[in-house]
Amino acid sequence: MLKPATFLSDLDKPDSLIYSMLMRAPIAMAFVNEAGDVICMNDRFHALVGKGAANAGLERIQQVFTSINTVRWAKLWQQLQDQERLHTREVLAVAADQPPSLELTLMPVSSKDERGAFIYVQDTESVYQTEGINLLRQEVLESVASGESVNSVMDLLCRRVEALAPEVVCTVLLVDEDGRLRHCAAPSMREDYVQAIDGLPIGPSAGSCGTAAWRGEVVEVTDIAHDPLWENYRELALSHGLAACWSSPITMKNGHVAGTFALYFREPRGASPFHREMVQACLHLCLLAFESEESKQQIYQLAFYDPLTDLPNRSLLWDRAQQSLKRLARERQPLAVLILDLDRFKTINDSLGHSRGDYLLKTVAKRLEQCLRPRDTLARLGGDEFVMLLPGMGSSQAIVVAEKLLASLAVPVMVNTTEVTPTASIGISIAPDDGTDFDTLQKHADLAMYKAKAEGRNTFRFFRPQMNDAVIKRLEMEVALRKAITEKQFVVYYQPQINLKTHELHGLEALVRWRHPELGLVSPASFIPLAEESGLISQIDQQVLEAVCQQRQRWSEQGITVDSVSVNLSVADFKYADVTENVRRVLQRYPLPPESLTLEITESLMLNSAENTLATLESLRALGVKLSVDDFGTGYSSLSYLKRFPVNELKLDRSFVRDLSDDPSDRALANAIIHLGDTFKLTVVAEGVETREQLDTLIDMGCGVAQGYYFAHPMPVDAITHWLTDGPEVF
Ligand code: C2E
Ligand code: MG
Ligand code: MG
Repeated sequence: MLKPATFLSDLDKPDSLIYSMLMRAPIAMAFVNEAGDVICMNDRFHALVGKGAANAGLERIQQVFTSINTVRWAKLWQQLQDQERLHTREVLAVAADQPPSLELTLMPVSSKDERGAFIYVQDTESVYQTEGINLLRQEVLESVASGESVNSVMDLLCRRVEALAPEVVCTVLLVDEDGRLRHCAAPSMREDYVQAIDGLPIGPSAGSCGTAAWRGEVVEVTDIAHDPLWENYRELALSHGLAACWSSPITMKNGHVAGTFALYFREPRGASPFHREMVQACLHLCLLAFESEESKQQIYQLAFYDPLTDLPNRSLLWDRAQQSLKRLARERQPLAVLILDLDRFKTINDSLGHSRGDYLLKTVAKRLEQCLRPRDTLARLGGDEFVMLLPGMGSSQAIVVAEKLLASLAVPVMVNTTEVTPTASIGISIAPDDGTDFDTLQKHADLAMYKAKAEGRNTFRFFRPQMNDAVIKRLEMEVALRKAITEKQFVVYYQPQINLKTHELHGLEALVRWRHPELGLVSPASFIPLAEESGLISQIDQQVLEAVCQQRQRWSEQGITVDSVSVNLSVADFKYADVTENVRRVLQRYPLPPESLTLEITESLMLNSAENTLATLESLRALGVKLSVDDFGTGYSSLSYLKRFPVNELKLDRSFVRDLSDDPSDRALANAIIHLGDTFKLTVVAEGVETREQLDTLIDMGCGVAQGYYFAHPMPVDAITHWLTDGPEVF
């Protein structure tokens, strides 16, 4: 703590605290006593009043300023006594040519014994400059806030800088993704220079800006003619009368250099303190403008682009469609709208995992993009649905594009270790024939796409007016089916299978039913094919498997034992879902002896005889579950696969059983299959046994197990539970 008594008298003592405070003050400052003696002044004050070295000798205030004589000082002193602060403008004595006027601020100070005044000085030029920078800042900020483009904000900035400092030429350059300088603003630079700089690579010696961007630090070249950094561009700069260049990188918060801000001078020189102050303010403004541009772009990107593929989203598509339709109608030109939906993407996505599904979608997006012209629009509407707008294209050209799209997709993609060959179904509608507004065109293209799916996929279809009814029905069914899956509208029925030798229960077959809220109980025959086509079957099968295992646990809690339950699987399960993993998980959750679960697969799966089908079947067998070939005899395969595939059971198809007594060839086939089972040590289950006669024939043939209405229909849980506990008479 300073003692007041010594405070003022310490001011001329170089080792005192108050002295060093005064010396270090960031503004020009002096201390004057009542008589007008300058007791002390700091370097800044010295520099300003041009009085040689600091404290070279005491001065009187009247000697420093010509405008202050003794009378005026007395008056100022007088005024100062009742004011905290006094502003005045005075003329310097010593300044050689034109004495600038200085703005002074006087502040009275006193201790017990002494009185005096601090004087702060600012020359009017610097006041003007500081104000100028403030104004510039305000103006540029307003322009950023009003959403001007970064180029026009930077243009304004350069102009204002040049107005404040007419000796400089101001430029702003951007650095692009390839590390090249790009023109942003240079309002008073000659056009040919601007063009010569545009596109130059940044680097360790690439003029002031290229180097500043490269190093990420300020590069001040005071003499372009002799600085090695300018070696390659020296002539260019000199021929434009540019002699010095001070460039600062515009560094974003993440450290990335987004551009440079440069002041050029027409003579070799460095930057003045004012230039530095101004550049500091400008860099801040550049950063703000760039950040605002960045977030503007992010918002735009979010609003109008699909984040996964970077393709236009639904909103941008709609916008482009409106514009195209308007323009093309005027020009009497057609517009083709293509809707492309990947085949069975959901199954792929579910089985490979979502991140791999995403990867596949990105690959598909790139492939599609390459088939289109720059004026076409490719949008992703979420999921695996893409929409294309092909302005000016009629149907014959649309065919060419659709074929090109399908061909470009049909190349295998390695998704992690799995090879996937994406295929798609495309629907096409053409304006104005198929509609003049985008909603109608889109709806019609959608119907055509469903038609393409229904007719085998990996193909395209044009919209035809009569297409509506059938396709719409199918569409509605698919929607309902999806809902059924999420709302778990499926129930499982059980049908007994009887051992023909012991007359006891061999096992149960689980058969799914759809309890439709309006249609009531729907038989699998009417929805399984659609579920298979639309890739929904694996989810249904998974729900059935789960329900069966859960039910068996309940039965075993009630003391009811069922040796075996068969569950039907579909080819699609093997193709896309990880069946083994699903089964393994269910067996883990409901601890059942695995050999008490039989999975029914169809012959067509084996016709598929891909290596991984065999591997999957083997891995299922390794879990301990049994495999059965359903509807056996209806496929047209060679029987050799029975040797290769690890199955346990054959289900003699109902069609052979039906005509067993009338059709000798059916009888011969049934007989052959039963013997085949004997040879391969496989259980043979005869399906669809309805009469005593059929049963007797099968027993005669040595068939092991039978299932059919003769014994029991498929029953819901309650009924089958009674059936099981009542120990029914089956023969
Ligand atoms: P499937 O696996 O061959 O099942 C036997 C079908 O024959 C069942 O038809 C059953 O009700 C019927 N059936 C049983 N005994 C007789 C009989 O004596 N006479 C006649 N005429 N029919 C009999 P359902 O339940 O309508 O199932 C039809 C097909 O749907 C099944 O044929 C199977 O391929 C499929 N399916 C059923 N449930 C599922 C499931 O959960 N997943 C999958 N992927 N497919 C299933
Ligand atoms: Mg079956
Ligand atoms: Mg069957």
